[in-house]
Amino acid sequence: MKERIFLSSPHMSEEGYELEYVHEAFATNWIAPLGVNVDQFEIELADMVGARAAVALSSATAAIHLALKAAGVGEGDIVFCQSLTFSASANPILYEKAVPVFIDSDEKTWNMSPDALEAAFEKYPQAKAVIVVHLYGLSADMDRIKAISEKYGAVVIEDAAESLGSFYKGKPTGTFGDYGVYSFNGNKIITTSGGGMLVSNREDKMQKVKFWATQARDPARHYQHSELGYNYRLSNVLAGIGRGQLKVLRDRVEKKRAIYAFYKKELGHLAGISFMPDNEWDAPNYWLSALLLDGPMLPDDVIDALEKENIESRPLWKPMHLQPYFERFDFIGTGVAETLFEKGICLPSDTKMTEADLERVVSIIRDVWVSKWKLQPTGSVLPDVKYIEGL
Ligand SMILES: *Cc1c(COP(=O)(O)O)cnc(C)c1O
Repeated sequence: MKERIFLSSPHMSEEGYELEYVHEAFATNWIAPLGVNVDQFEIELADMVGARAAVALSSATAAIHLALKAAGVGEGDIVFCQSLTFSASANPILYEKAVPVFIDSDEKTWNMSPDALEAAFEKYPQAKAVIVVHLYGLSADMDRIKAISEKYGAVVIEDAAESLGSFYKGKPTGTFGDYGVYSFNGNKIITTSGGGMLVSNREDKMQKVKFWATQARDPARHYQHSELGYNYRLSNVLAGIGRGQLKVLRDRVEKKRAIYAFYKKELGHLAGISFMPDNEWDAPNYWLSALLLDGPMLPDDVIDALEKENIESRPLWKPMHLQPYFERFDFIGTGVAETLFEKGICLPSDTKMTEADLERVVSIIRDVWVSKWKLQPTGSVLPDVKYIEGL
């Protein structure tokens, strides 16, 4: 069996930056959820994205949870959440016993549809917060989403877990909303094995977030608590990994962009295949190269063929309003998210992939494509014949 090719796996720097910071944590015995690496990781990331404050946390899920608390979301409050996303965007709404209403996607961005959001506010003008996601590093249309949310006085939380290194109109994603969230889980563009960061310009609120994240300890010698606390801070050892990874973020984006360009060049002209949207205001990090298959070749055909060759690929996220746990909640939209889920596939986008790896993936997909078109009843005429002759 050939060596496995992953969708996106951890990629430490060749220079060993991460280990230097980890060594420092060991040498100073700061093996704790505080220390120089935590403080510096926050400062370095805040500087990089241009946010006034950052709090390093044990996960992006924890960051979304505390952003909701900071937004004042509580029992029974309505929170609008992009439906096409990973469940971690929505779960924290339930931690606070608030009520999610799921919002459809826009074909133009694959992210939250501003039109559906507007319709949602007409139905629920009292909604407290909006969780918008930048999937696969593509940015949502933040100008419109912010304008609509502001009109109704709702707090905007940007789930930028997948989009560190992406820009919307020249400014980093995660810095448009009242709060922005990044993830350093093992599959993300940079990783600390597990971890997250909350950023915001609301320094007062961020002080409160730090307080909640460290067990809500009042300033007293005897462990005094006047609020519910959480143990959500990031370890100083892991923050060291994060500081090293920040140094190679630009390189990772470059490689992800090259992977995407390769797939697009090799597959983009085949009938029935279209790539993720390319908006002029968008500078994605291309975390995952994703595309839509319109038949006769379908996502499962490609996923199965790649898996046989020990190569990982996946469908797009299954929308929350179609999930057994969440389907009891309201959904506002027309079915765009569902169509994206049915047609979409994420190709292996691991930054350690070689040119030969990429060629392997592409040649498997071409074979599936040819076999599917040959099975077509309509005279079995293969489209794009010029290309086929070159095979
Ligand atoms: C990975 C991910 C999260 C959760 O991040 P963790 O750090 O694993 O908690 C949240 N939202 C989206 C869109 C993600 O992809």
